[in-house]
Amino acid sequence: MSTPTSLPASAGRLPPTAVLAVFLIALAVAPQVLPEFYVTLLNYVGLAALVALGLVLLTGVGGLTSFGQAAFVGLGAYTTAVLTAVPELPAALQLLAGSPWTSLAVGLVLTAIVAIVLGSVTLKLSGHFLPLGTMAWGISLYFLFGNLEVLGGHSGMSGIPPIQIFGHELVDIRDYYYLVWIFLLVALFTTRNLLDSREGRAIRALKGGMVMAESMGVNTARARMVIFLIAALHACAAGWLYAHLQRFVNPTPFGLHIGIEYLFMAVIGGAGQVWGALVGAGVITVLKQWLQDILPKLFGSAGNYEVIVFGVLMVIVLQRAREGLWPLFASLVPVRKTHKVIDAAAAPLPKNTQPPTGEVILEARQVTRKFGGLVANNNMSLSVKAGEILALIGPNGAGKSTMFNQLSGVDTPTSGEILFRGKAVAGHSAREIAHLGMSRTFQHVRLLPRMTVLENVAIGAHMRGERGVLPAAWRMDREEEARLLREAAAQVERVGLGAHMYEEAGSLALGQQRILEIARALCSDPCLLLLDEPAAGLRLKEKQALAELLRRLRDEGMAVLLVEHDMDFVMGLVDRVVVMEFGEKIAEGLPEEVQRDPAVLEAYLGGV
Ligand code: ADP
Ligand code: MG
Repeated sequence: MSTPTSLPASAGRLPPTAVLAVFLIALAVAPQVLPEFYVTLLNYVGLAALVALGLVLLTGVGGLTSFGQAAFVGLGAYTTAVLTAVPELPAALQLLAGSPWTSLAVGLVLTAIVAIVLGSVTLKLSGHFLPLGTMAWGISLYFLFGNLEVLGGHSGMSGIPPIQIFGHELVDIRDYYYLVWIFLLVALFTTRNLLDSREGRAIRALKGGMVMAESMGVNTARARMVIFLIAALHACAAGWLYAHLQRFVNPTPFGLHIGIEYLFMAVIGGAGQVWGALVGAGVITVLKQWLQDILPKLFGSAGNYEVIVFGVLMVIVLQRAREGLWPLFASLVPVRKTHKVIDAAAAPLPKNTQPPTGEVILEARQVTRKFGGLVANNNMSLSVKAGEILALIGPNGAGKSTMFNQLSGVDTPTSGEILFRGKAVAGHSAREIAHLGMSRTFQHVRLLPRMTVLENVAIGAHMRGERGVLPAAWRMDREEEARLLREAAAQVERVGLGAHMYEEAGSLALGQQRILEIARALCSDPCLLLLDEPAAGLRLKEKQALAELLRRLRDEGMAVLLVEHDMDFVMGLVDRVVVMEFGEKIAEGLPEEVQRDPAVLEAYLGGV
């Protein structure tokens, strides 16, 4: 399944492997044919791209913003400067001193510790705390570099030795070029691999909203920490390379404004794609070089005018091309579009044993939820059995969604009990409840519009795999990945979206997107499906298809609880109905009984 096949409409286009081969050959030949000035420039592009790549993952993919990457670069650079260039280190550090390779390891460990500490205080807080936290970190480290006597203050530290590989000293910048670009290529390939994996989908799911990701069993706090850590480690490695290239460090390249420049690179290049980091780093580095030559001539003095130009450029790019410059670059080379091949021979994933039909799966007992003085749910009780569809209906504002949120772990009851498969789950997280076999869809669809239908559905299989970040980065997860994708493909087929398997989810009609969410929920192998207004916004044909699917699932023994507004849809489909009004249960029973109930008629029609 790792060999992608091409889509039919790609005749006359180049296979991606050929394009990649040409690119790699060009990279290998470049320092042999280019003048030294350009090799130096390419070295700086490579270093910047390594940092920007971390930000592509963190900001572009994960939606988290860091202004502090330059400080991590500085941490890597100063660590190696201290360990390799300070003549009389304290005895405790002697053991680690001398070899640049040892100081790379020390720098990475140090960076990991800082990133974990910084991440654990800022990542849990939403919104602006991470950007602010990274800014504070960026500023304070910059001043630390500048003011510590041992670090040479603002004049910096010199005497950093060259890196040795098999006894060969990398002093020639053409030699150094290869080291820089090998680091970058390894980072590019491992990042790309990571994004195309179970963990990668979990990271990408962060942008679909934390509630969605958690409901699919993703530990979002961990996923955010992982990308923050990876981005910091990339920056640290770039700093180490920088220090041994320059053989000298001072605080200037690690300040906050350089941190902002790295962010420019990621955003301008195309924050969602790994190759965007390279484009962004290339454009900004070359442009900066050029502007620093030309702007002083225009303005007559040397200021940091290029920052203003970058700012304007960023506004233009964000206005004109939200995806950055990468799509523009990519469209210049006619690369054949490919998609994944499902390996039909991959072993099926193990399935949970489903409870026998008729067994009570979910039970709410006297659940009350108050919002201040407002009682949104009052003494609500209901139960759902395996092989049954239960509808929770009621007029707008009756308290259905509130009930739904408590059942799925998004909200906690003020009082009362919720039992899922015999376990008390009130107050437990959505992720824990998902692990017990409850899966849900959303009233307002939450999917990743730019990801394919297949990949969106595969997010649902997250809990059924276990391979982590490192195996994914090095492609050691392919067997499990094949099994996960096979399962996802089977669910896509099961709900009837097989013809759209490789289309972007965002290109589907709303009805199909709702069905996609059901496939994603099914992919987690649940015994209970919770559907929040699944028929809302659907056309008649789509409603019929949805009803057909739900009947089939019920007949297979699935328990389904649906919150619905649409009486007609509910009445022909479900086994039992619970009717709510003003936060209370006003009726319960078979659809035809409930339909005749005067209290229900009163609630829906305002009295007949
Ligand atoms: P339904 O889904 O049946 O339309 P809801 O459960 O969304 O109803 O809302 C029930 C009542 O609770 C409404 O009056 C709503 O305004 C109120 N409500 C819901 N969520 C909150 C909240 N987080 N804070 C305050 N009031 C809320
Ligand atoms: Mg609602």
